[in-house]
Amino acid sequence: MSEKITFVPVSFTGWNSLSHLVEQVSQFGVKKILLVTDPFLKEIGLTDKVVVPLREAGYIIDIYTDIVPEPPLEIGEKLVANTREFQYEMVIGVGGGSALDLSKLAAVLAVHEGNVADYLNLTGTKRISKKGLPKILIPTTSGTGSEVTNISVLSLETTKDVVTHDYLLADVAIVDPALTISLPPRVTAATGIDALTHAVEAYVSKNASPVSDAFALQAIRLISGSIRTAVSNGEDRQARTNMSYGSYLAGLAFFNAGVAGVHALAYPLGGQFHIAHGESNAVLFPYVMGYIRQSCEKRMKDIYNAMGFHPTNLSPLEASYKCVAELKRLVEEINIPSTLRGFNIPEDALERLTNDAIQQKRLLARSPMTLEKKDIYRIYKAAYAGIIEDQ
Ligand code: NAD
Repeated sequence: MSEKITFVPVSFTGWNSLSHLVEQVSQFGVKKILLVTDPFLKEIGLTDKVVVPLREAGYIIDIYTDIVPEPPLEIGEKLVANTREFQYEMVIGVGGGSALDLSKLAAVLAVHEGNVADYLNLTGTKRISKKGLPKILIPTTSGTGSEVTNISVLSLETTKDVVTHDYLLADVAIVDPALTISLPPRVTAATGIDALTHAVEAYVSKNASPVSDAFALQAIRLISGSIRTAVSNGEDRQARTNMSYGSYLAGLAFFNAGVAGVHALAYPLGGQFHIAHGESNAVLFPYVMGYIRQSCEKRMKDIYNAMGFHPTNLSPLEASYKCVAELKRLVEEINIPSTLRGFNIPEDALERLTNDAIQQKRLLARSPMTLEKKDIYRIYKAAYAGIIEDQ
């Protein structure tokens, strides 16, 4: 078996890596830049760290802030129209996954025709054929890994869909943990669990390889070892740095191996109930892993080990049970509601959630256990009741 391994061409990581920005922009020979961010990041002055040095270096920067969390398709359509109209030469994304996903989409679709909807994975009819404008992605959350993936996620009426192509990959990713210090505890927790889910799902994915495994296990070590501190003391530089490297590595892991059941079931929660992506993943994470546990016991033992436990004397079966329990404890300890009831999801919504989740065939295909409609319903039911069901 062989696999394709894809990386973002250039990354700068670590504290103060943003200092490389101007030198990186200069290599593209551009003048007029669109900076895509969200209104809150502009309001707290975080975007100044990007805008000020670039303006001082003589670049023309327009700041676009019409971005909302879990961006719906229409927000993407507006941004793409704006990028085409004003003929920018480069796009820089600064923010969480919501701003980054739309920045890369705008950079690529600026040179294509038609609507964003035409390029959606589930229903689109057009194909991306050109690389588009150069793009630099600068995450301010430690979560999605969007800075290293070729995916843009958009919210639709009842679920989510993606636009995906290798041309959506950043030319340069700058992953500076200093930009995450201002993240409030709830967003730190949700985005951190999103990153942990990426690493765990990539590690148990049917498409896992020794390369994605290396990224995934190191991401699990870093995130599980630091997420509690990052949530309780956001000023802790070491914890922020570990989360930043962890989410970057988790992004590389899942970009190459894929995510599966947790994400497939989380998308309709975001679509139908507007629950933040990280929280949708977090609330389902232990229940999906518990349900598929028996299909990947040996790998769950490795995950338990990477989480800092030493299961040498445990069988894969025993370690896998402990791993699921530990994942549930982690989600609870960082104060994310651990049941669907905790998010006020009514029980009669489970059927509709199931009908949408089963559409996510691209994601479900990588699950180590085949998940059919009846399985998905049982997992939602378990997450509703707060009792892990072991298939
Ligand atoms: P987000 O971008 O929606 O941001 C969440 C909130 O955090 C916003 O209110 C934002 O203003 C705030 N915020 C961001 N950085 C901050 C900072 N440094 N200080 C204070 N506040 C800050 O959240 P996210 O979880 O990073 O992104 C979610 C989106 O990414 C979803 O649409 C999801 O589907 C998508 N996603 C994409 C990929 C991918 O590979 N492209 C992977 C996973 C998720």
